[in-house]
Amino acid sequence: MKLFKTGTLALAGIFSFGLAGQQSAVSAAEKTEKETKPNFIVIFADDLGYGDLGIFGNPVIKTPNLDKMAVEGQKWTSFYVAAPVCTPSRAGLLTGRLPIRSGMCSDKRRVLFPDSNGGLPQSEITIAKALKENGYKTAAVGKWHLGHKSPHLPTDHGFDSYFGIPYSNDMDKVEKTDHFTLAENERYQAYNVPLLRDKEVIERPADQRTITKRYTEEAVARIKSMKQEPFFIYLAHSLPHIPLFRSEEFKDVSVSGIYGDVIEEIDWSVGQILKTLKEEGLDENTLVIFTSDNGPWHTFKTHGGTAGLLRGAKGGTFEGGMREPTVFRWPGTLKPGVVMDMATTMDLLPTFCKLSGTQLPDDRTYDGYDISPLILGNGKSKRDVVYYYRGEQVYAVRKGAYKAHFITQNEYGSQTAHPITDPPLEITNAPTVHETPLLYNLNIDPAEKYNIAEQHPEIIAEIKNVLQEHLAGIEPVENQLEK
Ligand code: MG
Repeated sequence: MKLFKTGTLALAGIFSFGLAGQQSAVSAAEKTEKETKPNFIVIFADDLGYGDLGIFGNPVIKTPNLDKMAVEGQKWTSFYVAAPVCTPSRAGLLTGRLPIRSGMCSDKRRVLFPDSNGGLPQSEITIAKALKENGYKTAAVGKWHLGHKSPHLPTDHGFDSYFGIPYSNDMDKVEKTDHFTLAENERYQAYNVPLLRDKEVIERPADQRTITKRYTEEAVARIKSMKQEPFFIYLAHSLPHIPLFRSEEFKDVSVSGIYGDVIEEIDWSVGQILKTLKEEGLDENTLVIFTSDNGPWHTFKTHGGTAGLLRGAKGGTFEGGMREPTVFRWPGTLKPGVVMDMATTMDLLPTFCKLSGTQLPDDRTYDGYDISPLILGNGKSKRDVVYYYRGEQVYAVRKGAYKAHFITQNEYGSQTAHPITDPPLEITNAPTVHETPLLYNLNIDPAEKYNIAEQHPEIIAEIKNVLQEHLAGIEPVENQLEK
């Protein structure tokens, strides 16, 4: 399979819109390749909840940089991930495909662990691999969690460089003390996680107290070193996944305790990235996207975040598990405002391909859609459906405003993430298969409290058909999480 490159001026139309008033006299033919290919930066938090940012309603955590980014750019309120836990969510983002298609989800092991041998297969084409074929420089910074052995590492998957912890920051735990005490005592040595430069371990255990700061410095350095070419940077923070650590400068800055400190440092990091783009003259040629891999980890109480008004949390298929606080910024090109249209992380690959004039490979099924019309404010996307997978099973389906739950289950054992509902509903630790699915109208009832299944059998029938058709198109592949 060879990726096909389109002409370098494929985006002339977009850019004449983007730079209107400044360079309108410059004809499309005079634009350089660099100017017609935007840079892309995806900033991916870990376990950040829908309600954790000021601009998404948090009353006690300060996020001035993200708030400003959203006001200048777009605040997306129906933006989803491919799965409610780390590994499959990341596989979905980078490949534009549901993790079930790459073998990157499992009913037995929810994510990859340090003893795992599997990872993202070489047959998958990541955003980095696709853009690289079209002349992009690429860098991955931060948490990977798509396989820590070759050929599954970032530099095996189209990234020119990698700097980060290759899996979750709570893994390789070598002390028995609980996460809360270890975090409060800044006992990073309790987690013997490696820090990698490309494929080489350069520090172990990674000193997580400075990890957000060092990821930021790395991303800033990559912006400066790659700026002569179009570039893609994937900055995946290890935090606020527990255990919580922050730099000396962010200790006790938040009224919201250690979790607030961690979020405020991530917000500072976003500010540093945006400041660097401005200083380097790249501001108007760079699309920056901020989102999270899954919802807040309620198991860890005050060391986990909040999904705000949404029900559920990390690990589950209610909205709080998979709907993420998302902000896009691209001064001069993007149409500022609130975007309520449905979109997912899987839409980024087709969208980046469209915006950069890179043709999508035609030998595979994509679950993502081009959402550039929503970014540019000149149309709609084709997305009308979101599938909520837990492991290898579809637990729920959203079509338009309506969401049907076919199976429900507590996120991580018993917890209190679920509100009082009408009629009362018990969420069990084992999967409950609903003969009549639960049905919610997410426009009227985003908190999923009022089951309207009885009033709308025709909508349930329609969603069932959508699901059946979807499942018929899933082909079995080797499971990577069970290797
Ligand atoms: Mg996560």
